[in-house]
Amino acid sequence: MSLRYDLHAHSTMSDGSLSPTELVEHALQQQVNVLALTDHDTTDGVAEALLAADVVGVNVVPGVEVSVTWNRRTIHVVGLNVDPENAELQQGLAGLRDFRDRRAEEIGRRLEKAGITGAHQAARKYAGGASIGRVHFARFLIEQGHAADMRTVFKHFLVKNKPGHVSGKWASLEQALGWIHRAGGQAVIAHPARYRLSATQLRRLIGEFMECGGEGLEVVSGGHSRNDCFAMAMHAQRSALLASCGSDYHGPENPWIELGRVEPFPPGCTPIWKSPRWRLYDSAQGGYPLQSNLERWPRG
Ligand code: AMP
Ligand code: MN
Ligand code: MN
Ligand code: MN
Repeated sequence: MSLRYDLHAHSTMSDGSLSPTELVEHALQQQVNVLALTDHDTTDGVAEALLAADVVGVNVVPGVEVSVTWNRRTIHVVGLNVDPENAELQQGLAGLRDFRDRRAEEIGRRLEKAGITGAHQAARKYAGGASIGRVHFARFLIEQGHAADMRTVFKHFLVKNKPGHVSGKWASLEQALGWIHRAGGQAVIAHPARYRLSATQLRRLIGEFMECGGEGLEVVSGGHSRNDCFAMAMHAQRSALLASCGSDYHGPENPWIELGRVEPFPPGCTPIWKSPRWRLYDSAQGGYPLQSNLERWPRG
């Protein structure tokens, strides 16, 4: 019997709306066997998810979605099977969350100038102690009637040339992959078809990603059309990258993306879980051997 993998999902520890425990329970309902928790720039939900995994009987992969600035664009890199205890990873992610805090203040100031008051405070409330993302501003703006839904609110307020936009100053590709690898993990370019890169630009991104030791491409994503999946499968094969799949689930209020609803890979893909470095968390075995993982495949 084949297992169902969803290797990209968010909780309330970033901009998702389910707690790590609720997410794991939802994974069971959705017949997901292997779930990666990949919150933006934090692994703070991993410990709770692993506890819930033991109770519920779902395999949880400790992960993170790292914000990267590449060529003045924001790119997301998913780290899978990272050791959440790794000091260098934690220090790197803490720096990104500092930027998030400063950016949130600046978004608040810019919205204020556009006549929208109290946004920073409200976004902080929506974040509920997690570091603030654009989604938290979006929820406030929708609640205040400035837009009808997420898509519209982003388009009118939170993207380039709009009142609440602040450009990202995130990690470099080299930094992000260094943190992931030295925490024993594998790096995957998240939703590669979502960046509106030309084929040439995407090849350049993949080239630089592989020079940094990157191993995977998220061929199947909740944010991809079927055509995108096929195009990304071609890129993965051409570059001999492993293929990953994830819904990028953020919660039930985005009904067009459901946890575990990931299409099968186009033919010719090598799933990342078939790579020899993959270690499936097994609660019955008391976890997986993170430490020996690091000993066996030391990086950089
Ligand atoms: P941030 O990392 O705080 O800049 O926010 C990025 C997040 O915003 C993504 O992970 C999505 O959850 C959300 N997002 C970005 N663009 C859109 C969009 N056009 N519509 C809805 N959500 C979006
Ligand atoms: Mn998000
Ligand atoms: Mn993303
Ligand atoms: Mn994501």
